[in-house]
Amino acid sequence: MTKSISCADVGSDCGWSTTAETEEELMKKVAEHAKEEHTDLEVTSEVVAKIKSCIKEI
Ligand SMILES: [Zn+2]
Repeated sequence: MTKSISCADVGSDCGWSTTAETEEELMKKVAEHAKEEHTDLEVTSEVVAKIKSCIKEI
């Protein structure tokens, strides 16, 4: 099962999306993207929980 997430899924006006084999790998990619593109976003535990709730399995 491949896991998928996009910024639009979490309500961001951004066309980025990614996939990974594990949630851990996916969250790593999300963190890297947020650091580069969403510098004003504070990645709190609430934000992480919201992102995790939006992860889709494809
Ligand atoms: Zn984005």
